[in-house]
Amino acid sequence: MTLSPLALPPADDTAGWSSLLEARTAVPLAEAARTADALRALEPGEAGALVLWNDLHVALANAFAASSLLSQVHPDPALREAAESAEQDANRFRTALMLDTEVFARLDAVPRQGLDAGALRVLDDALRGFRRAGVDRDDETRERLRVLGEREDDLAQAFGRHIRDGARTTRVPATALDGLPGDYVEAHPVDADGTVAITTDYPDTHPFLTFSTDADARRTVMAAFLDLAWPENDEVLRELLAVRDERARLLGYDGWPDYDAEVKMIGTGPAIAEFIDRITHDATAAAERDAAVLLERARLDHPGLERLDVSCARFYTEAVRRERYDVDAQQVRRYFDFTRVRQGLLDVTGRLFGLTWTPVDDAPTWHDEVAAYDVALAGGEQLGRIYLDLHPRAGKYNHAAQFDLVSGVAGRQLPEGVLVCNFGRGLMEHSEVVTLFHEFGHLLHHVLAGRHEWVRFSGVATEWDFVEAPSQMLEEWAWDDGVLAGFATDEEGRAIPAELVDQMRAAEEFGKGVHARTQMYYASVSYRFHAELPADLTARSLELSEQYAVWAALPGSHFHCGFGHLGGYTSAYYTYMWSLVIAKDLFSAFDTRDLFAPEVALRYRDRVLAAGGSKDAADLVEDFLGRPYEPTAFTAWLER
Ligand SMILES: [Zn+2]
Repeated sequence: MTLSPLALPPADDTAGWSSLLEARTAVPLAEAARTADALRALEPGEAGALVLWNDLHVALANAFAASSLLSQVHPDPALREAAESAEQDANRFRTALMLDTEVFARLDAVPRQGLDAGALRVLDDALRGFRRAGVDRDDETRERLRVLGEREDDLAQAFGRHIRDGARTTRVPATALDGLPGDYVEAHPVDADGTVAITTDYPDTHPFLTFSTDADARRTVMAAFLDLAWPENDEVLRELLAVRDERARLLGYDGWPDYDAEVKMIGTGPAIAEFIDRITHDATAAAERDAAVLLERARLDHPGLERLDVSCARFYTEAVRRERYDVDAQQVRRYFDFTRVRQGLLDVTGRLFGLTWTPVDDAPTWHDEVAAYDVALAGGEQLGRIYLDLHPRAGKYNHAAQFDLVSGVAGRQLPEGVLVCNFGRGLMEHSEVVTLFHEFGHLLHHVLAGRHEWVRFSGVATEWDFVEAPSQMLEEWAWDDGVLAGFATDEEGRAIPAELVDQMRAAEEFGKGVHARTQMYYASVSYRFHAELPADLTARSLELSEQYAVWAALPGSHFHCGFGHLGGYTSAYYTYMWSLVIAKDLFSAFDTRDLFAPEVALRYRDRVLAAGGSKDAADLVEDFLGRPYEPTAFTAWLER
């Protein structure tokens, strides 16, 4: 049987979209509930439980995919709201399912003999999920876990809300706008007292710290930024750490980091500490080299300066990049016309991975600017469909991310994925081109891993500290002069010069050692806070800053209160760097003189991407590299 992609209604067909949402959320959720009933009705020990478990998750995955995508991209606010409420229904269903003692008992009784490796992996994953939820605990413990789980959600929400709502405004002299771009200056009118207001919002603070030549004003703005949500989040965070710790210990773990790390590549809490210290060690030579350059540059403005603090970090990094590498962003943009970049991306990934992307111009979508493509293997077999939704509009998700529309399952449904970004319609910044390649890496992963029998293995179904590695690796193709020459051409059709790409790369890489150390400071706050539950969070944060960061902290600042990632990443902020280490190792298998060499690319496609969650990420990487992953390539890159 040939599978077909979903047929979507035309963008302006309101009723059509309502029934599509219903058909892709409420209907599969009802089906999942019926399948759970069928599971409970089985005799204990029936192997069919695992098949029903898979059926249930196909339905649940469909409900999550459609609700989460449409709540973020559909132009009609009423439909977005309906999708959001469908997503809450799916969440409630899943929470109740993982505490369902009967469903757990049917799976726990499945005989293991006769199961193949895939089925065993699905079974073990399901049982582990149930145990991590606490389903096998006595009533009193389960009740306490329920209370703790709810309290954790409330506290994490409050932590984020205080950061969002806690925006502050500082006033600095109008002369502090010296060095800032014209549109920024225009957007900051001078008050009667000769000052301008700078808020702690990112688009306000970030350019100010990067470009303002006024060191005192930078310090004032930075101090306000570092005091976001102080003092209210100090208490919230202390309780959040205690709640997570109690939950983990009730479930039999030695603290929260062990609980959280169990389902990640890194495995245990102490391994996080080791990773942070190893990266810190490996980055030290590069960090000291860069820091010396930065300090020397800063001394031109401030003779005798002994050490740079965080309020100078962005400013001098930018100054050195500009003065040393002479990359003019305006000059660079001329080569990145959106339409050519989009086609270039498809050409590059098609050639690299043996795929053909065919535009489906008559496919209706939720908005006219969304482009649909069918993707097939070079032989012609259709793999799935993708949607590129790449420009901003009112009410749309405002970052860049990949969403699922359908998770592929062998013989049942084709994978369909969506890229949601917010690029301009004309010329792009090179950093946006890199973002586009990065996000497309997630989309490729989703589509290529969409042909497993078990939906648990479908798409980006790998450990959370590995998911960024394939995307971080694909970024390399957006930095290669030969690759860029294929689509980065100016109006006269001239390709971007290789020397310019070299300069761009050198500028980008300046400061990578300092950056790695800063990241390890953040990672240490995330890990140590959860492992140690320090009584004085401010004091511990300052100690960690001295130990890991290159920049001096601002005295009396409270960085941890505004560090929003403590809400979602909990003790695992290390993951970004962990993925990057593996991305560099994966990339080392490619020949940088011929990034399109087919053998290695196809091996990577089949052994890492197409494998999805069918094996542990460490095994996938080893299948591809022919050896376990190692940090050598990352360390060499740092020191280069
Ligand atoms: Zn990513």
